[in-house]
Amino acid sequence: MTLPNYINSQWCTSSATEYLDVINPATAEILAKVPLSPASEVNQAVQAAAEAFVSWRRTPPTERVQYLFRLKNLLEENLEDLARTITTECGKTLAESKGEMRRAIENVEVACGIPMMMQGTNLEDIARGIDEMMIRQPLGVAAVIAPFNFPGMIPFWFMPYALACGNTYIVKPSEKVPLTMQKIFQLLEKTGLPQGVVNLVNGAKEAVDAILDHPKIRAISFVGSTPVAKYIYSRAAANGKRVQCQGGAKNPLIVLPDADLEMTTPIAADSAFGCAGQRCLAASVAVTVGEARRTFTEAIAETAKKRVVGNGLDQGVEMGPVITSESKARIESLIQKGSDEGATVLVDGRHPNISSYEKGNFIRPTILQDVNPTGEIARTEIFGPVLSVIHLDTIEQAIALVNSGQYGNMACLFTTSGAAARKFRYEAEAGNIGINIGVAAPMAFFPFSGWKESFFGDLHGQSNHAVEFFTQTKVVVERWPKDWSRQF
Ligand code: NAD
Repeated sequence: MTLPNYINSQWCTSSATEYLDVINPATAEILAKVPLSPASEVNQAVQAAAEAFVSWRRTPPTERVQYLFRLKNLLEENLEDLARTITTECGKTLAESKGEMRRAIENVEVACGIPMMMQGTNLEDIARGIDEMMIRQPLGVAAVIAPFNFPGMIPFWFMPYALACGNTYIVKPSEKVPLTMQKIFQLLEKTGLPQGVVNLVNGAKEAVDAILDHPKIRAISFVGSTPVAKYIYSRAAANGKRVQCQGGAKNPLIVLPDADLEMTTPIAADSAFGCAGQRCLAASVAVTVGEARRTFTEAIAETAKKRVVGNGLDQGVEMGPVITSESKARIESLIQKGSDEGATVLVDGRHPNISSYEKGNFIRPTILQDVNPTGEIARTEIFGPVLSVIHLDTIEQAIALVNSGQYGNMACLFTTSGAAARKFRYEAEAGNIGINIGVAAPMAFFPFSGWKESFFGDLHGQSNHAVEFFTQTKVVVERWPKDWSRQF
Protein backbone atom coordinates (compact mmCIF):
# COMPACT_ATOMS: atom_id res chain seq x y z
CA MET A 1 0.00 0.00 0.00
CA THR A 2 1.44 3.40 -0.96
CA LEU A 3 0.32 6.18 1.33
CA PRO A 4 -1.42 9.27 -0.03
CA ASN A 5 -1.06 12.85 1.11
CA TYR A 6 -4.11 14.85 2.21
CA ILE A 7 -4.14 18.25 0.53
CA ASN A 8 -7.07 20.63 0.22
CA SER A 9 -9.40 17.95 1.64
CA GLN A 10 -8.41 15.44 -1.07
CA TRP A 11 -6.45 12.22 -0.61
CA CYS A 12 -3.84 12.51 -3.37
CA THR A 13 -1.23 10.15 -4.72
CA SER A 14 2.19 11.72 -4.42
CA SER A 15 4.29 12.36 -7.49
CA ALA A 16 7.35 11.27 -5.46
CA THR A 17 10.00 9.30 -7.29
CA GLU A 18 11.26 7.76 -4.05
CA TYR A 19 9.32 5.74 -1.46
CA LEU A 20 10.48 4.25 1.83
CA ASP A 21 9.22 1.06 3.43
CA VAL A 22 7.27 1.48 6.66
CA ILE A 23 8.40 -1.47 8.77
CA ASN A 24 6.86 -3.11 11.83
CA PRO A 25 9.82 -3.06 14.27
CA ALA A 26 8.64 -6.21 16.08
CA THR A 27 8.21 -8.43 13.01
CA ALA A 28 10.16 -6.69 10.19
CA GLU A 29 6.97 -6.91 8.10
CA ILE A 30 6.60 -4.15 5.48
CA LEU A 31 3.40 -2.32 6.35
CA ALA A 32 3.27 0.31 3.60
CA LYS A 33 5.34 2.54 1.37
CA VAL A 34 5.63 6.20 2.26
CA PRO A 35 6.32 8.81 -0.42
CA LEU A 36 9.18 11.26 -0.03
CA SER A 37 7.02 14.07 -1.34
CA PRO A 38 8.67 16.74 -3.47
CA ALA A 39 8.67 20.45 -2.65
CA SER A 40 5.87 21.01 -5.19
CA GLU A 41 3.47 19.04 -2.96
CA VAL A 42 4.39 21.11 0.08
CA ASN A 43 3.66 24.12 -2.09
CA GLN A 44 0.22 22.74 -3.00
CA ALA A 45 -0.55 22.19 0.68
CA VAL A 46 0.57 25.72 1.54
CA GLN A 47 -1.55 27.23 -1.24
CA ALA A 48 -4.59 25.29 -0.02
CA ALA A 49 -3.96 26.31 3.59
CA ALA A 50 -3.38 29.95 2.65
CA GLU A 51 -6.68 30.08 0.74
CA ALA A 52 -8.52 28.36 3.60
CA PHE A 53 -7.09 30.85 6.10
CA VAL A 54 -9.11 33.73 4.61
CA SER A 55 -12.42 32.40 5.89
CA TRP A 56 -11.14 30.17 8.74
CA ARG A 57 -9.79 33.18 10.63
CA ARG A 58 -13.20 34.84 10.25
CA THR A 59 -14.97 31.79 11.68
CA PRO A 60 -15.82 32.64 15.31
CA PRO A 61 -13.68 30.77 17.87
CA THR A 62 -16.86 29.27 19.33
CA GLU A 63 -17.55 27.69 15.93
CA ARG A 64 -13.94 26.66 15.34
CA VAL A 65 -13.87 24.62 18.56
CA GLN A 66 -16.96 22.67 17.51
CA TYR A 67 -14.72 20.80 15.04
CA LEU A 68 -12.36 20.03 17.92
CA PHE A 69 -15.21 18.72 20.08
CA ARG A 70 -16.10 16.42 17.18
CA LEU A 71 -12.46 15.41 16.82
CA LYS A 72 -12.24 14.57 20.52
CA ASN A 73 -15.24 12.26 20.25
CA LEU A 74 -13.87 10.59 17.12
CA LEU A 75 -10.48 10.08 18.77
CA GLU A 76 -12.19 8.50 21.81
CA GLU A 77 -14.29 6.20 19.62
CA ASN A 78 -11.23 5.13 17.62
CA LEU A 79 -8.72 5.02 20.45
CA GLU A 80 -8.22 1.25 20.33
CA ASP A 81 -7.61 1.23 16.58
CA LEU A 82 -5.25 4.22 16.76
CA ALA A 83 -3.33 2.58 19.60
CA ARG A 84 -2.92 -0.64 17.60
CA THR A 85 -1.62 1.36 14.66
CA ILE A 86 0.92 3.14 16.88
CA THR A 87 2.13 -0.15 18.32
CA THR A 88 2.32 -1.77 14.90
CA GLU A 89 4.46 0.91 13.32
CA CYS A 90 6.35 2.22 16.35
CA GLY A 91 6.77 -0.84 18.58
CA LYS A 92 5.65 0.38 22.01
CA THR A 93 3.15 -1.66 24.01
CA LEU A 94 -0.57 -1.28 23.49
CA ALA A 95 -0.96 0.26 26.95
CA GLU A 96 1.75 2.82 26.10
CA SER A 97 0.04 3.61 22.79
CA LYS A 98 -3.29 4.14 24.55
CA GLY A 99 -1.57 6.43 27.04
CA GLU A 100 -0.08 8.35 24.13
CA MET A 101 -3.47 8.90 22.51
CA ARG A 102 -4.92 9.92 25.87
CA ARG A 103 -2.30 12.70 25.99
CA ALA A 104 -3.21 13.73 22.44
CA ILE A 105 -6.89 13.95 23.37
CA GLU A 106 -6.09 16.07 26.44
CA ASN A 107 -4.57 18.67 24.15
CA VAL A 108 -7.73 18.76 22.05
CA GLU A 109 -9.73 19.26 25.22
CA VAL A 110 -7.56 22.14 26.38
CA ALA A 111 -7.67 23.82 22.96
CA CYS A 112 -11.48 23.68 23.15
CA GLY A 113 -11.12 26.42 25.77
CA ILE A 114 -9.81 28.85 23.16
CA PRO A 115 -12.71 31.32 23.48
CA MET A 116 -11.31 32.00 26.96
CA MET A 117 -7.62 31.35 26.30
CA MET A 118 -7.33 33.55 23.24
CA GLN A 119 -8.77 36.63 24.88
CA GLY A 120 -6.73 39.80 24.85
CA THR A 121 -6.48 42.50 27.51
CA ASN A 122 -7.63 46.08 27.73
CA LEU A 123 -7.41 49.11 29.93
CA GLU A 124 -9.70 52.11 29.89
CA ASP A 125 -8.25 55.58 30.31
CA ILE A 126 -4.58 54.93 29.64
CA ALA A 127 -4.78 58.71 29.28
CA ARG A 128 -7.89 60.85 29.69
CA GLY A 129 -10.54 59.55 27.29
CA ILE A 130 -8.16 57.11 25.61
CA ASP A 131 -8.51 53.33 25.83
CA GLU A 132 -6.04 50.66 24.87
CA MET A 133 -6.63 47.03 23.98
CA MET A 134 -4.50 44.07 22.98
CA ILE A 135 -6.10 41.62 20.54
CA ARG A 136 -4.75 38.21 19.57
CA GLN A 137 -4.97 37.34 15.88
CA PRO A 138 -3.90 34.14 14.08
CA LEU A 139 -0.71 34.09 12.03
CA GLY A 140 -1.77 32.24 8.88
CA VAL A 141 -0.32 28.91 7.76
CA ALA A 142 1.66 26.92 10.34
CA ALA A 143 3.33 23.49 10.18
CA VAL A 144 4.71 20.74 12.39
CA ILE A 145 7.64 18.44 11.62
CA ALA A 146 7.31 15.41 13.90
CA PRO A 147 9.60 12.62 15.21
CA PHE A 148 9.02 8.86 15.20
CA ASN A 149 8.59 8.14 18.89
CA PHE A 150 5.07 9.51 19.50
CA PRO A 151 3.36 9.38 16.10
CA GLY A 152 -0.08 10.06 17.57
CA MET A 153 0.62 12.56 20.33
CA ILE A 154 3.30 15.01 19.26
CA PRO A 155 1.42 16.82 16.45
CA PHE A 156 -1.30 17.40 19.07
CA TRP A 157 1.04 19.52 21.20
CA PHE A 158 0.54 22.11 18.47
CA MET A 159 -2.21 21.42 15.90
CA PRO A 160 -5.35 21.80 18.07
CA TYR A 161 -4.16 25.18 19.37
CA ALA A 162 -3.12 26.36 15.91
CA LEU A 163 -6.55 25.51 14.49
CA ALA A 164 -8.52 26.85 17.43
CA CYS A 165 -6.63 30.15 17.19
CA GLY A 166 -7.68 30.45 13.53
CA ASN A 167 -4.56 29.27 11.71
CA THR A 168 -4.51 26.65 8.97
CA TYR A 169 -2.14 23.75 9.25
CA ILE A 170 0.26 21.27 7.65
CA VAL A 171 1.53 18.10 9.33
CA LYS A 172 4.73 16.40 8.16
CA PRO A 173 4.90 13.14 10.14
CA SER A 174 8.06 11.10 10.61
CA GLU A 175 8.63 8.99 7.51
CA LYS A 176 9.30 6.04 9.85
CA VAL A 177 5.76 6.08 11.33
CA PRO A 178 3.33 7.72 8.89
CA LEU A 179 0.37 5.36 9.40
CA THR A 180 -1.04 6.89 12.59
CA MET A 181 -1.45 10.31 10.98
CA GLN A 182 -3.20 8.69 7.99
CA LYS A 183 -5.83 7.45 10.44
CA ILE A 184 -6.01 10.72 12.34
CA PHE A 185 -6.52 12.62 9.10
CA GLN A 186 -9.37 10.26 8.19
CA LEU A 187 -10.96 11.39 11.47
CA LEU A 188 -10.16 15.05 10.80
CA GLU A 189 -11.92 14.61 7.46
CA LYS A 190 -14.99 13.31 9.30
CA THR A 191 -15.16 16.42 11.47
CA GLY A 192 -16.17 18.37 8.35
CA LEU A 193 -13.39 20.94 8.71
CA PRO A 194 -13.52 23.34 5.76
CA GLN A 195 -11.41 22.59 2.71
CA GLY A 196 -7.68 23.22 3.13
CA VAL A 197 -7.72 23.93 6.89
CA VAL A 198 -5.60 20.84 7.66
CA ASN A 199 -3.17 19.15 5.30
CA LEU A 200 -0.88 16.13 5.50
CA VAL A 201 2.34 15.89 3.52
CA ASN A 202 4.52 12.81 3.91
CA GLY A 203 8.21 12.98 3.27
CA ALA A 204 11.66 13.65 4.62
CA LYS A 205 14.37 16.23 3.98
CA GLU A 206 13.04 17.70 0.72
CA ALA A 207 9.57 18.23 2.20
CA VAL A 208 11.07 19.68 5.41
CA ASP A 209 13.30 22.09 3.51
CA ALA A 210 10.32 23.21 1.43
CA ILE A 211 8.42 23.94 4.67
CA LEU A 212 11.40 25.87 6.08
CA ASP A 213 11.73 28.00 2.95
CA HIS A 214 8.11 28.59 1.94
CA PRO A 215 7.34 32.31 2.26
CA LYS A 216 3.70 31.71 3.17
CA ILE A 217 4.42 29.49 6.20
CA ARG A 218 4.49 31.74 9.22
CA ALA A 219 5.25 29.36 12.08
CA ILE A 220 7.00 26.01 12.46
CA SER A 221 7.00 23.56 15.36
CA PHE A 222 9.63 20.83 15.35
CA VAL A 223 10.26 17.90 17.64
CA GLY A 224 13.19 15.55 17.06
CA SER A 225 16.92 15.21 17.60
CA THR A 226 19.08 18.17 18.63
CA PRO A 227 21.24 18.41 15.48
CA VAL A 228 18.12 18.57 13.29
CA ALA A 229 16.44 20.96 15.78
CA LYS A 230 19.38 23.36 15.43
CA TYR A 231 19.20 23.14 11.65
CA ILE A 232 15.44 23.75 11.56
CA TYR A 233 15.68 26.58 14.08
CA SER A 234 18.38 28.46 12.20
CA ARG A 235 17.02 27.96 8.69
CA ALA A 236 13.42 28.81 9.60
CA ALA A 237 14.52 31.83 11.64
CA ALA A 238 16.75 33.03 8.78
CA ASN A 239 13.60 32.95 6.67
CA GLY A 240 11.83 35.17 9.19
CA LYS A 241 9.54 32.52 10.65
CA ARG A 242 8.35 31.99 14.17
CA VAL A 243 9.89 28.70 15.25
CA GLN A 244 9.99 26.38 18.26
CA CYS A 245 12.20 23.29 18.24
CA GLN A 246 12.18 20.57 20.89
CA GLY A 247 15.37 18.51 20.72
CA GLY A 248 17.06 15.53 22.30
CA ALA A 249 17.67 14.69 25.93
CA LYS A 250 19.82 12.86 28.45
CA ASN A 251 17.66 12.75 31.53
CA PRO A 252 19.19 12.16 34.96
CA LEU A 253 17.37 10.70 37.90
CA ILE A 254 18.93 11.12 41.33
CA VAL A 255 18.27 8.63 44.09
CA LEU A 256 19.07 9.85 47.61
CA PRO A 257 19.74 7.38 50.44
CA ASP A 258 16.41 8.27 52.08
CA ALA A 259 14.33 7.44 48.97
CA ASP A 260 11.50 4.94 49.39
CA LEU A 261 13.00 2.15 47.27
CA GLU A 262 9.83 0.13 46.97
CA MET A 263 8.21 3.13 45.30
CA THR A 264 11.32 4.38 43.47
CA THR A 265 12.48 1.21 41.74
CA PRO A 266 9.45 0.45 39.54
CA ILE A 267 9.07 4.16 38.71
CA ALA A 268 12.72 4.39 37.67
CA ALA A 269 12.42 1.19 35.64
CA ASP A 270 9.33 2.50 33.84
CA SER A 271 11.14 5.71 33.06
CA ALA A 272 14.28 4.01 31.72
CA PHE A 273 12.66 1.09 29.90
CA GLY A 274 9.13 2.28 29.06
CA CYS A 275 8.71 2.77 25.30
CA ALA A 276 12.04 0.88 25.07
CA GLY A 277 13.77 4.03 26.32
CA GLN A 278 12.64 5.94 23.22
CA ARG A 279 11.02 8.78 25.11
CA CYS A 280 12.46 12.26 25.29
CA LEU A 281 11.57 12.02 29.00
CA ALA A 282 13.19 8.62 29.55
CA ALA A 283 15.63 8.36 32.44
CA SER A 284 19.01 7.66 30.93
CA VAL A 285 21.31 8.16 33.92
CA ALA A 286 20.62 7.18 37.52
CA VAL A 287 22.82 8.99 40.02
CA THR A 288 22.90 7.15 43.31
CA VAL A 289 23.97 9.13 46.35
CA GLY A 290 25.62 7.48 49.36
CA GLU A 291 24.04 4.22 50.49
CA ALA A 292 21.58 4.23 47.55
CA ARG A 293 24.55 3.01 45.53
CA ARG A 294 24.10 -0.53 46.76
CA THR A 295 20.39 -0.71 47.50
CA PHE A 296 19.07 1.01 44.37
CA THR A 297 21.53 -0.68 42.00
CA GLU A 298 20.57 -4.13 43.29
CA ALA A 299 16.85 -3.37 43.12
CA ILE A 300 16.86 -1.85 39.63
CA ALA A 301 18.99 -4.69 38.27
CA GLU A 302 16.45 -7.24 39.52
CA THR A 303 13.55 -5.23 38.05
CA ALA A 304 15.33 -4.82 34.70
CA LYS A 305 15.94 -8.55 34.37
CA LYS A 306 12.26 -9.33 34.96
CA ARG A 307 10.83 -6.96 32.34
CA VAL A 308 8.83 -8.89 29.75
CA VAL A 309 10.03 -7.99 26.25
CA GLY A 310 8.15 -8.81 23.06
CA ASN A 311 5.67 -7.63 20.47
CA GLY A 312 3.77 -4.72 22.03
CA LEU A 313 0.49 -6.14 20.72
CA ASP A 314 0.87 -9.29 22.81
CA GLN A 315 -0.69 -9.42 26.24
CA GLY A 316 1.66 -9.20 29.21
CA VAL A 317 4.45 -7.59 27.21
CA GLU A 318 6.04 -4.68 29.10
CA MET A 319 8.55 -3.49 26.52
CA GLY A 320 8.62 -3.58 22.73
CA PRO A 321 11.42 -3.27 20.18
CA VAL A 322 13.39 -0.18 19.16
CA ILE A 323 12.41 1.53 15.95
CA THR A 324 14.89 0.24 13.35
CA SER A 325 17.67 -2.30 12.97
CA GLU A 326 20.09 0.65 12.59
CA SER A 327 18.87 1.98 15.92
CA LYS A 328 19.40 -1.41 17.54
CA ALA A 329 22.95 -1.63 16.16
CA ARG A 330 23.73 1.92 17.34
CA ILE A 331 22.43 1.22 20.88
CA GLU A 332 24.36 -2.03 21.10
CA SER A 333 27.55 -0.28 20.02
CA LEU A 334 26.97 2.42 22.66
CA ILE A 335 26.64 -0.29 25.34
CA GLN A 336 30.01 -1.62 24.16
CA LYS A 337 31.42 1.91 24.28
CA GLY A 338 30.25 2.24 27.91
CA SER A 339 32.02 -0.97 28.75
CA ASP A 340 35.15 0.21 26.93
CA GLU A 341 35.03 3.38 29.02
CA GLY A 342 35.21 1.31 32.19
CA ALA A 343 31.56 0.59 33.11
CA THR A 344 30.37 -2.85 34.17
CA VAL A 345 27.51 -4.24 32.07
CA LEU A 346 25.50 -5.32 35.10
CA VAL A 347 22.46 -6.36 33.06
CA ASP A 348 23.22 -6.99 29.39
CA GLY A 349 20.25 -6.76 27.02
CA ARG A 350 22.17 -7.18 23.79
CA HIS A 351 21.29 -9.87 21.23
CA PRO A 352 18.23 -11.25 23.02
CA ASN A 353 16.28 -14.19 21.76
CA ILE A 354 12.63 -13.17 21.55
CA SER A 355 10.74 -16.26 20.59
CA SER A 356 8.51 -15.90 17.46
CA TYR A 357 10.02 -12.46 16.74
CA GLU A 358 13.56 -13.27 15.70
CA LYS A 359 13.52 -10.54 13.05
CA GLY A 360 12.44 -7.77 15.43
CA ASN A 361 14.69 -4.96 16.65
CA PHE A 362 14.79 -6.13 20.25
CA ILE A 363 17.17 -5.18 23.02
CA ARG A 364 16.40 -6.16 26.59
CA PRO A 365 16.78 -3.66 29.46
CA THR A 366 20.44 -2.94 30.06
CA ILE A 367 22.21 -1.50 33.10
CA LEU A 368 25.69 -0.06 33.00
CA GLN A 369 27.22 0.33 36.44
CA ASP A 370 30.00 2.73 37.47
CA VAL A 371 29.72 4.75 34.31
CA ASN A 372 32.45 7.34 33.91
CA PRO A 373 30.68 10.69 34.56
CA THR A 374 32.93 12.49 32.10
CA GLY A 375 32.89 9.79 29.43
CA GLU A 376 30.87 9.76 26.23
CA ILE A 377 28.22 7.34 27.44
CA ALA A 378 27.24 9.58 30.38
CA ARG A 379 26.52 12.44 27.95
CA THR A 380 25.25 10.91 24.70
CA GLU A 381 21.55 10.43 24.08
CA ILE A 382 21.22 6.65 23.65
CA PHE A 383 17.46 6.55 22.98
CA GLY A 384 17.17 2.90 23.92
CA PRO A 385 16.52 0.79 27.04
CA VAL A 386 19.86 1.49 28.68
CA LEU A 387 20.28 2.96 32.15
CA SER A 388 23.73 4.21 33.16
CA VAL A 389 24.36 4.24 36.91
CA ILE A 390 26.79 6.77 38.37
CA HIS A 391 27.65 6.93 42.07
CA LEU A 392 28.32 10.17 43.93
CA ASP A 393 28.63 11.13 47.59
CA THR A 394 26.41 14.20 47.97
CA ILE A 395 23.32 15.85 46.52
CA GLU A 396 25.49 18.87 45.65
CA GLN A 397 27.71 16.70 43.47
CA ALA A 398 24.64 15.11 41.89
CA ILE A 399 23.08 18.49 41.05
CA ALA A 400 26.42 19.68 39.66
CA LEU A 401 26.47 16.61 37.40
CA VAL A 402 22.89 17.28 36.26
CA ASN A 403 23.78 20.89 35.46
CA SER A 404 26.95 20.00 33.58
CA GLY A 405 25.02 18.22 30.81
CA GLN A 406 24.29 19.81 27.44
CA TYR A 407 20.60 18.90 27.61
CA GLY A 408 17.92 20.12 29.98
CA ASN A 409 14.74 18.26 29.16
CA MET A 410 14.02 16.58 32.50
CA ALA A 411 15.67 15.88 35.83
CA CYS A 412 14.14 13.82 38.66
CA LEU A 413 14.85 13.37 42.33
CA PHE A 414 13.81 10.51 44.57
CA THR A 415 13.79 11.36 48.26
CA THR A 416 11.57 11.62 51.33
CA SER A 417 13.14 14.95 52.33
CA GLY A 418 11.19 18.11 51.53
CA ALA A 419 14.30 20.24 51.96
CA ALA A 420 16.26 18.15 49.45
CA ALA A 421 13.32 18.26 47.03
CA ARG A 422 13.14 22.05 47.27
CA LYS A 423 16.88 22.44 46.75
CA PHE A 424 16.69 20.24 43.67
CA ARG A 425 13.62 21.96 42.24
CA TYR A 426 15.36 25.31 42.74
CA GLU A 427 18.81 24.44 41.40
CA ALA A 428 18.42 21.75 38.73
CA GLU A 429 18.86 23.14 35.23
CA ALA A 430 16.06 21.39 33.38
CA GLY A 431 12.68 22.51 32.14
CA ASN A 432 10.70 19.54 33.47
CA ILE A 433 11.37 18.39 37.04
CA GLY A 434 10.11 15.23 38.72
CA ILE A 435 10.04 14.79 42.48
CA ASN A 436 9.44 11.09 43.08
CA ILE A 437 8.17 11.04 39.49
CA GLY A 438 10.05 9.25 36.71
CA VAL A 439 8.48 10.76 33.60
CA ALA A 440 7.70 14.39 34.41
CA ALA A 441 5.56 14.94 31.32
CA PRO A 442 3.58 18.17 31.62
CA MET A 443 -0.17 17.82 31.21
CA ALA A 444 -1.72 19.65 28.26
CA PHE A 445 -2.55 22.70 30.39
CA PHE A 446 1.15 23.26 31.18
CA PRO A 447 3.93 24.03 28.68
CA PHE A 448 6.37 21.28 27.74
CA SER A 449 9.38 23.15 29.06
CA GLY A 450 12.68 21.76 27.78
CA TRP A 451 15.82 23.84 28.42
CA LYS A 452 19.34 24.16 27.03
CA GLU A 453 20.01 21.95 23.97
CA SER A 454 16.66 20.23 24.48
CA PHE A 455 14.82 23.31 23.24
CA PHE A 456 15.38 26.16 20.83
CA GLY A 457 12.88 28.98 20.92
CA ASP A 458 10.89 30.93 23.48
CA LEU A 459 7.36 29.56 23.59
CA HIS A 460 6.91 25.83 24.15
CA GLY A 461 4.21 23.44 22.97
CA GLN A 462 0.87 22.97 24.79
CA SER A 463 -1.19 25.29 27.01
CA ASN A 464 -1.08 29.09 26.97
CA HIS A 465 2.40 28.94 25.42
CA ALA A 466 0.83 27.37 22.31
CA VAL A 467 -1.85 30.07 22.24
CA GLU A 468 0.85 32.73 22.32
CA PHE A 469 2.89 30.92 19.69
CA PHE A 470 -0.03 30.65 17.28
CA THR A 471 -1.23 34.24 17.66
CA GLN A 472 0.22 37.65 17.05
CA THR A 473 -0.74 40.52 19.28
CA LYS A 474 -2.24 43.72 17.99
CA VAL A 475 -2.52 46.74 20.22
CA VAL A 476 -5.20 49.32 19.52
CA VAL A 477 -5.13 52.75 21.14
CA GLU A 478 -8.49 54.50 20.75
CA ARG A 479 -9.91 57.97 21.26
CA TRP A 480 -13.39 59.15 20.29
CA PRO A 481 -14.64 62.73 19.92
CA LYS A 482 -16.55 64.02 22.91
CA ASP A 483 -19.09 66.13 21.07
CA TRP A 484 -22.22 64.09 21.87
CA SER A 485 -24.50 66.49 20.00
CA ARG A 486 -22.85 65.55 16.69
CA GLN A 487 -23.67 61.88 17.21
CA PHE A 488 -27.28 61.82 18.39
P1 NAD B 1 14.91 13.20 13.85
O1 NAD B 1 15.54 14.48 14.23
O2 NAD B 1 15.75 12.19 13.12
O3 NAD B 1 13.63 13.45 12.90
C1 NAD B 1 12.60 14.32 13.26
C2 NAD B 1 11.96 14.90 12.01
O4 NAD B 1 12.94 15.66 11.28
C3 NAD B 1 11.40 13.86 11.04
O5 NAD B 1 10.16 14.31 10.59
C4 NAD B 1 12.43 13.82 9.92
O6 NAD B 1 11.83 13.58 8.66
C5 NAD B 1 13.02 15.22 9.94
N1 NAD B 1 14.45 15.23 9.58
C6 NAD B 1 15.40 14.32 9.96
N2 NAD B 1 16.60 14.67 9.47
C7 NAD B 1 16.42 15.81 8.76
C8 NAD B 1 17.29 16.66 8.01
N3 NAD B 1 18.59 16.40 7.90
N4 NAD B 1 16.77 17.74 7.40
C9 NAD B 1 15.46 18.03 7.51
N5 NAD B 1 14.58 17.25 8.20
C10 NAD B 1 15.05 16.16 8.82
O7 NAD B 1 14.31 12.58 15.19
P2 NAD B 1 13.66 11.13 15.42
O8 NAD B 1 14.74 10.11 15.36
O9 NAD B 1 12.46 10.96 14.57
O10 NAD B 1 13.14 11.29 16.93
C11 NAD B 1 13.95 11.01 18.04
C12 NAD B 1 14.51 12.28 18.64
O11 NAD B 1 13.46 13.17 18.98
C13 NAD B 1 15.27 12.04 19.93
O12 NAD B 1 16.44 12.82 19.93
C14 NAD B 1 14.31 12.53 21.02
O13 NAD B 1 14.92 12.96 22.21
C15 NAD B 1 13.65 13.66 20.31
N6 NAD B 1 12.37 13.99 20.90
C16 NAD B 1 12.30 15.12 21.66
C17 NAD B 1 11.11 15.45 22.29
C18 NAD B 1 11.03 16.68 23.15
O14 NAD B 1 9.94 17.01 23.58
N7 NAD B 1 12.13 17.36 23.42
C19 NAD B 1 9.99 14.64 22.13
C20 NAD B 1 10.10 13.50 21.33
C21 NAD B 1 11.30 13.19 20.72
